[in-house]
Amino acid sequence: MSIRKQMRLLSGLLLLGTVAISYGQEKVRSADDRFKADILVVVAHPDDEGAVTPYLARAIYDMHKRVAVVFGTHGGSGGNNYGKERASALADMRGIEARAACARLGIQNVWFLDGKDTASQNVLNSLANWGHGANLEKMVQLIRLTRPDIIITSLPGIYIGENHGDHQAAGVLATEAFDLAGSVTVFPSQVAGASPKRELYLENLNPWQPKKIYYFADAQDDKQFVGSGPAYSIMEVSPSQKKPYWRLAIDAAMTHLTQYPDEIHALEKLSDVELQKRMSDPDTGWWSEPETLIFGKSYYRSMPTDDVFTNLNGKTVECQGSASTAQLAGSTSVELGGPWAFYKEFRKVHCLSELPVAKVAEIAVKSGGPVSIPLIIHHDGTKELEISVSAAVPDGWKVTSGTGKLKLPAEDRTNLQVEIETPTLNAAELKNGKPQLIRVQVEAAGQAAQTVELRVLLRNGGLPQ
Ligand SMILES: [Zn+2]
Repeated sequence: MSIRKQMRLLSGLLLLGTVAISYGQEKVRSADDRFKADILVVVAHPDDEGAVTPYLARAIYDMHKRVAVVFGTHGGSGGNNYGKERASALADMRGIEARAACARLGIQNVWFLDGKDTASQNVLNSLANWGHGANLEKMVQLIRLTRPDIIITSLPGIYIGENHGDHQAAGVLATEAFDLAGSVTVFPSQVAGASPKRELYLENLNPWQPKKIYYFADAQDDKQFVGSGPAYSIMEVSPSQKKPYWRLAIDAAMTHLTQYPDEIHALEKLSDVELQKRMSDPDTGWWSEPETLIFGKSYYRSMPTDDVFTNLNGKTVECQGSASTAQLAGSTSVELGGPWAFYKEFRKVHCLSELPVAKVAEIAVKSGGPVSIPLIIHHDGTKELEISVSAAVPDGWKVTSGTGKLKLPAEDRTNLQVEIETPTLNAAELKNGKPQLIRVQVEAAGQAAQTVELRVLLRNGGLPQ
């Protein structure tokens, strides 16, 4: 039978089916169960999923949980360390590598947002470059489509470490979408009923409230997060797979050849015993033992260190997230601006009081390069304000702009920057380097001086601030 004849016969049968149903009790279709997830992982780049694959292996193989992964970008801006393809072609290949890595863990449902790789530690740069609004809409849609109880994503925070702005952006979008996906008034076309026949615009999804959100950090020092959430052994042997969870995670990561081919080839040559030795050593292993999932918040009452899958119903947590109140008339206050100020409000608005925060704001930058201290001056918006800005920096560091006497315009809030040039350190100095404290002081007439602090570690490379 020709394909065309087959198609005609098939469409005839479908038509008959529709007619038959209309005579009996019509069954309304449910959401497609193939796309339901228990855990939705939201990460920025292909290979970032590797941060939680030991836990995912446990959840998938031994707890029979369904996992879906959302990648924020296709990762096309990095170098290709394997073949010659670059840019958009590399992005297409990285997308396949990501799907292949997930498939090795039995994860079929892999989605991509339309974010673009951003070479910066500043989450606000990433959100701007990704197109924050459109990607948030997409993120909310994917939560309504996959209906996860649990979201695991990158920590929205600033730490000495890789501290990639894109990683943080994935965490910001996932957190915002956690709070929005359950509301019928948010992106309402997604939850409007579709017409029975052809529907071009309305998606016929339902609102969905995820129950818990967990994070993993992009910080150099993992130890600071111990106790911030449940911890799971990566060394434990999977009862169903007869392999340790770290091993299942490594096997999945082997598809990312355009990113670290030398490392993958070196690992492939190791015996099981050598590989185990390498992964058990805190200096060479890829994950901490045990691995902590940092608790963000729970829709129902739950303790931070409770198991991921406990308390998925019960009494809801009361939290009306609200931003800081307006400035008192006539007073002036100073805070660290940029992403630090954003996160301070973000944690309040999204009820993330449990989230760990660096005691003193910190960042790592390339030795010999610039570091900026963003400031926000809140002041009386009805008149101009004269202030004096000074900065105390370590020996060998040089303030290049942003200090001295300044006249601020009549507005409630003024953004300023103090720019500092850092010294070029030699290899030994970099190896033994400790974070250095920068203190910026702001004085306004008739008020006590106010100070903001930033700890800065100099390193030999990494993303610009
Ligand atoms: Zn990444």
